[in-house]
Amino acid sequence: MIKLLLATRNAKKLGELRRILVAEGIEGVEVIGLADVPEFPEAPETAPDFEGNALAKAQDAAAATGLPAIADDSGISVDALNGMPGVLSARWSGKHGDDEANLDLVLAQLSDTPDERMGAAFVCAAALVVPGGDETVVRGEWRGSLIRERRGTNGFGYDPIFVPEGESRTSAELEPSEKDEASHRGKALRALVGELRKLAG
Ligand code: IMP
Repeated sequence: MIKLLLATRNAKKLGELRRILVAEGIEGVEVIGLADVPEFPEAPETAPDFEGNALAKAQDAAAATGLPAIADDSGISVDALNGMPGVLSARWSGKHGDDEANLDLVLAQLSDTPDERMGAAFVCAAALVVPGGDETVVRGEWRGSLIRERRGTNGFGYDPIFVPEGESRTSAELEPSEKDEASHRGKALRALVGELRKLAG
């Protein structure tokens, strides 16, 4: 059994990667999280793009543990804001992880933007680093548009104002399994499946 470290403390992300490995028939890989390894210093996310942050996190995790490591970095990119909040999504209002304030600020910034220019995409970069081996970075995108009022209680972050392309519900109104199937993170993790198959031998 090969141990694969997903550099996160988020149980939902661990569950999602485990489900993808099962769905792809990849056996012999045990996915563990940061709570399962000795603590190591986690560097701040300072890269200008999602790929750079994901790669830096995966490199740190692989170096600290000697295990093959996956890390992700994600956010929302709003067309009318020239791609922002982007890598600053989690701290757009100035305070890390204040979802309500982040949502309020983005909506205030879009108050004069016409409905037909409310396009946005969730973006996720995922990096796999094998100690002494390959480094792979992939990206998944989920396009949609923003609405001005919040709808739905599933999900987190910007989900209550994001309506995916081809949907009438927000991503906070989708079932978790529906979101996994369509989401930026699901797409990025599935894009690593070829490399993970090699790892599993
Ligand atoms: P992280 O990659 O887990 O640090 O997430 C970065 C930030 O992007 C989160 O705090 C959210 O604000 C936003 N974000 C990323 N993915 C999603 C999503 O699936 N739904 C809603 N917000 C998201």
